[in-house]
Amino acid sequence: MNFISKAKDIAIDRAAGLLRITWLDQHESAYPLRWVRANCPCATCREERRTAVLNTDPLKLTAGPAPSTQVAGAELVGNYALRLRWTDGHDTGIYPFTSLRMSCPCPNCNPQGAPPLFAE
Ligand SMILES: [Zn+2]
Ligand SMILES: [Zn+2]
Repeated sequence: MNFISKAKDIAIDRAAGLLRITWLDQHESAYPLRWVRANCPCATCREERRTAVLNTDPLKLTAGPAPSTQVAGAELVGNYALRLRWTDGHDTGIYPFTSLRMSCPCPNCNPQGAPPLFAE
């Protein structure tokens, strides 16, 4: 992990529906929680996205209730990743900071808009 993908401060802004990360180089990223959930990197979600290419709503890939976009809790995995627990109990997504930094939705990092979560 290089310098710029070290997180200095991490906050879940529930009111705004954002995951906010301030990086060691002072850059600030704000990820919509809906985007974060839609890009959950766990094996189950990746498989669902792969097999649901015809579905128009990336959040609702299978029959049943739509996945939660509310964060119930967050914890660090070592110092390289963030694990999020959603209010529907899903907690297998581990988001590497390097991937999050590469996928920063701000116009300086990604002028075309938020890309899918960068996969290492
Ligand atoms: Zn998942
Ligand atoms: Zn940025």
